[in-house]
This record gives sequence, structure tokens and C-alpha cells, in this order.
Amino acid sequence: MKKIVLKLSGEILQGKDRHVDIKYIENLAKDISEIVKKGYKIALVIGGGNIWRHRDNADLKMDRVHSDQIGMMATIMNALILEDKFKENGINVKAVSNLSVPAVLPDYEPKKTVSMFKKYDVLICAGGTGKPYVTTDSAAALRAVEIGAEALLKATNVDFVYNKDPRKFKDAKPIKSISAREVVEKKLGVMDLSAVSLCMSKKIPIFIFNIFKKGNLLREVFKRDIGTIIK
Ligand code: UDP
Repeated sequence: MKKIVLKLSGEILQGKDRHVDIKYIENLAKDISEIVKKGYKIALVIGGGNIWRHRDNADLKMDRVHSDQIGMMATIMNALILEDKFKENGINVKAVSNLSVPAVLPDYEPKKTVSMFKKYDVLICAGGTGKPYVTTDSAAALRAVEIGAEALLKATNVDFVYNKDPRKFKDAKPIKSISAREVVEKKLGVMDLSAVSLCMSKKIPIFIFNIFKKGNLLREVFKRDIGTIIK
């Protein structure tokens, strides 16, 4: 069984005049179909940034736990939309949640992932870790360890990790390969450092790639010759 974790930021689903771009999700579903046809099992960890992130709303000075809970619920809303559209495209998919909302989605149960993957090709993992103060990057790393993933693929809107912020520095250089230790030591802002550390301890490589370029998702899964590898 080839198992991968795909971390999708909620921002990737953002539409122009509503929270989600349905056309984009339909195209994503086509790519996901191609991947599962080749025998892959996917744990898709979905973010909530198109609806709510604590850090985007910190100025509201809300209770931090409430703000994070809203963010986790945003991931559940995204998961329902993805599950719907994936099913429409014939994908054998099940959405589960780490934040317990049993009237909406079944709880994610780490011990059941083997049997879940016998039944389903794609598990949409909503609700982050179910706990405040972290992000869905940490959830993605946890899912990667729990399912024994061969890789964690983090989809972004940039081509590479850079040695410095490319928006601020014209001489920023793309990095094709870097050790997890260096990412942690240099505190590179590619993803939660705790997520990088966890993957490092279990020797799970992380691939950062630009999902907005046509064909990149399939290329990253099948060839892994684009973007940055953290190993
Ligand atoms: N969040 C949380 N715990 C988690 C995952 C997410 O509290 O385990 C909250 C947090 O406020 C975060 C928001 O949910 O900002 C949305 O998740 P994230 O920022 O990871 O979404 P993305 O940037 O990937 O769209």
C-alpha cells in the first residue's frame, strides 16, 4: 500500500467571491482520481485558512481557544465540501474529524486507519489535531506518522522553499533539498517546526511544491522532481 499525506492549506480552495472555488475543487478531484487509480492511499489534511485562522484574526483579541476552535471548525466545513465533490467524481472517500463533532463527521481513530484504508482510498482529515495552539501542519505530521506514510506532501503557492523571504529579498535563492535539522535550526518558516521535527524523528520526507501550476500535483506524487524536499 503506497500511503501519502497531502496537506492542503484552506487558502488553496479560496474563491474570488466566496470562500471556496468549486471549479478548482472539481479539477482537484480529477487529479486525486488519477492518483488513487495508481494504487495510492491518501490522507488529505485540510486547513481552514480560507475561512478562519487564529493568526489572521488576532486583532479581534478573542479568547485564543475559541479562535482556534473556529479555525478547526473551518477545516470541517472545507472537508464536507471536498468530500461531496470527491464523491461526485467517483472517489472512494471518507471525511473524519479530530475535533469531535459527531453530528457532522465521525471521529478520526488512529487505530482504525488500516481498516479505513481497506475500505476507502482517500481519508479527508478535518479538525486539525483537535487541540488549540497549533495548526494543521502539525496534524499532517501526526497523520503521516500514524498511517506510516512514505511522504508528506505540502501543497503551497510557491515553487520552492527559499533561503530568505523572496518577497523581501531579490537575491533569495530556491532550495531544492535541505535537511530537516537545518530547517529547524534556521527556523525556516516553511511549516510548523514541531511538524518538521516529528517527520524528522520518523524519517518521513516532506515535499513542498506549488499546487497552482497545472500538472504539479500529479508530478509531485509520481515523480517528485519539483519543489523542495526536506529529509
Ligand atoms: N487550528 C488549531 N489546531 C489545529 C489545527 C488548526 O487550533 O490542530 C486552528 C488555528 O487557529 C488555525 C486554524 O485552525 O489557524 C486553521 O488551520 P490552519 O492555519 O492550519 O489552516 P491553513 O493555513 O492550512 O489553511
